[in-house]
Amino acid sequence: MAEPAKQRVPLVEGRLKILPDGKAHLVGIKCAKCSEIVFPKSFFCPACGAEDVEEVALSTRGKVWTYTIVHVGYGSIIQTPPYATAFVELEGGGYVHTPVVGCDPEEVSIGMDVELELITTEERDDDETVVYAFKRVST
Ligand SMILES: [Zn+2]
Repeated sequence: MAEPAKQRVPLVEGRLKILPDGKAHLVGIKCAKCSEIVFPKSFFCPACGAEDVEEVALSTRGKVWTYTIVHVGYGSIIQTPPYATAFVELEGGGYVHTPVVGCDPEEVSIGMDVELELITTEERDDDETVVYAFKRVST
């Protein structure tokens, strides 16, 4: 029998929300004045300066907008370079700077479909710490 899934705790509070059913999404803001969607969340809109912003759940899917290949490690998150890091343009708006996992770095391309993926960085008896990344959507 499979062990029950451990509770997942985001490494950084406020950027990633994990719901009781295990589904997760990033948390951004939407500006009431200019409709800009921004990640990570902020108390004002960086596009127009308005402070009338509301917290929104961001899409878990998007496309690679641009990327580069990094040849040094990324702390406990990705210990074995090289890896790809990208700006992902989310469906419905917003950009996320994120590692891209699930394929070799040289397979990453602009326009590639990706989806939210959680990476475990530390495991304990009852729970585990996770960070967000995006992985290639298999077609
Ligand atoms: Zn705005």
